[in-house]
Amino acid sequence: MKTLEAKSLVLLRHHLKALRLPTVSAECEKVAAQAAADNADHLTYLLQLLELELLDREKRAAERRLKAARFPTIKTLDTFDFTARPSVNKMLISELARCEYIDKRENVLMIGNPGTGKSHLATALAAAACHKGYRVRFFRTTELVTALIEARDERTFLRLKGQLAKLDLLVLDELGYVPASKVGAELLFDVISTAYERTSLIVTSNLPFESWTEVLGSERLTGATLDRLTHRCRIIETRGESYRLIDAKTRSRRSAERKSGQALDEPQVAK
Ligand code: ADP
Ligand code: MG
Repeated sequence: MKTLEAKSLVLLRHHLKALRLPTVSAECEKVAAQAAADNADHLTYLLQLLELELLDREKRAAERRLKAARFPTIKTLDTFDFTARPSVNKMLISELARCEYIDKRENVLMIGNPGTGKSHLATALAAAACHKGYRVRFFRTTELVTALIEARDERTFLRLKGQLAKLDLLVLDELGYVPASKVGAELLFDVISTAYERTSLIVTSNLPFESWTEVLGSERLTGATLDRLTHRCRIIETRGESYRLIDAKTRSRRSAERKSGQALDEPQVAK
């Protein structure tokens, strides 16, 4: 077979760059050598190359979405120990990881004591959504409220609201740690009601619903917020004690077991 001259190869790379096909550019020679060895025809070669480009493109886009979501830490469902948290239904979490609730604009509420895995699950589910192509943003609720208050009288407010409106999934973590001011509560309500039936929300809170008035101030606002949030939503309760505590107890028990095991293994010295 006739091979491409060096000059034409430079031209090919130039075209591939102009067409923004970096993976085709990086892989074309290697795949061509393999295709020649396999006696593959031109169309098979083209198909293989374009599949590589597409896979890489999807990977890069997912990485961009993960970065844009601004997760404080990366958590996955693989590292979540469901046996330590029996109140969390593994089947439901796997279903949520498939993201159909986002297509249906449904919400997820996670309620439970501190350290029971709410942020872990919220991050892992939101990261799964990034991988599936959804636009996601993670906020600690106080961080969002502060940003909204600071931007309130400026053009940045509209920009921030515009950014929120483009999302498929918005995570509001830790609603309830700090009581919001009257203005803060109203701005938060505005975000939640704008998202209603347009953007899915994952909200985590250490407070049971009956205590939300402590955060949002008025009963009227709390009622209206809960009405929007809980209409078509999945509620996950992470009951029990903090995972850090469970983890610490398991570790100390294991190390005690190791020590007593060692003691048994030690040679018995005749007295
Ligand atoms: P919360 O948001 O409910 O306060 P976090 O999700 O921040 O709790 O959990 C505290 C720490 O414990 C995190 O590092 C988290 O990854 C870990 N963790 C919590 N629950 C589990 C679990 N069931 N399996 C594995 N790690 C867990
Ligand atoms: Mg948390």
